[in-house]
Amino acid sequence: MSTPLLTVDNIGRRFGGFIALEGVTAAFEANKVTAVIGPNGAGKSTLFNVLSGVLPPSTGTIHFRGQNLTGTPQHRFAHLGISRSYQITNIFPELSAHENVRVAAQAFRSRYNILINRAHLGELDAKAEAALDAVGLAAKGARTAKFLAHGEQRALEIAVALVANPALLLLDEPTAGMGPEETRDMVALIEKLARDRTILLVEHKMKMILGLSDRILVLHHGRVIADGSPQAIQADTEVRRVYLGQ
Ligand code: ADP
Ligand code: MG
Repeated sequence: MSTPLLTVDNIGRRFGGFIALEGVTAAFEANKVTAVIGPNGAGKSTLFNVLSGVLPPSTGTIHFRGQNLTGTPQHRFAHLGISRSYQITNIFPELSAHENVRVAAQAFRSRYNILINRAHLGELDAKAEAALDAVGLAAKGARTAKFLAHGEQRALEIAVALVANPALLLLDEPTAGMGPEETRDMVALIEKLARDRTILLVEHKMKMILGLSDRILVLHHGRVIADGSPQAIQADTEVRRVYLGQ
C-alpha cells in the first residue's frame, strides 16, 4: 500500500457506559472508495462522526496526511480536507440551492478572513456554481431547497460538502430513501466524485456497494469484523452470518 491518506488506530467511543466503537484500526489509501457496512447500531455513523471531528474519540488516534488530528476541533477538519454529508438531510429548506452552497462557501472562507468585499462575493458565487455543477444541479440553483426532489436534496448536501474541496469525503447513507432511478444517479455522482478524491460511504444497498467500492469494512457491535475487497467480503462466512443473514 502507498502511504495512506487516513489512518485510524485503536479508535474507541463510549456514550456513558455504552461502547459504540472499540478497537477500530484501519488505513485508507487515497482515491479509493471504501464502503462501511454493518447492521443498524453497529457504529457506522459514530465512526463517521469521529472521522469528521463531530465527536472526539474516547480512545485511539486519527492521522490524516501524516498529521495527528486527535482532539482537533471540528471546524479544522474541513480546512484540512475532510468533509461529510449526514444520514439525515442537512440543508436550509427555505434557501435556494445556490444560497445553501453559498452560505457554506462563506462560512468556509470566513475562517480565514472575515472581511468580505465585492470581489469576494463574486468568488463565493462562482464557488457555489462550481459545486452545484459538480453534482448536476447547475440548472436548479434558483430552486428553493425544499422544492427539490429528495435525490436532488441529497446531491445539494454533497455540493455543500464540496465547497471545502475535500480530499476525503464521507457520505452517510447517500441513497437512503431513494428509489432505483435516484439511486442510479447517486451512484453515477459518487463514481464521478471518486475520480479525484477519497470516499468513505455508509450504505445498505449491497449491489450498489459491490459495484462501487474498492474495499469494504464491516462493523458489528462497534468492532471491525472484516475488511477487504468486495469479493473477499462476499465470501466471508462471519459477514454472511451477521450481516447478510445467511
Ligand atoms: P449505525 O450508524 O451503525 O446504525 P450509530 O453509530 O448511529 O450506528 O450508533 C451506534 C450505537 O451508539 C447505537 O446503539 C446508538 O444508539 C449509540 N449512539 C450513537 N450516538 C449516540 C449518542 N450521541 N449518545 C448515546 N448513544 C449513541
Ligand atoms: Mg447510521
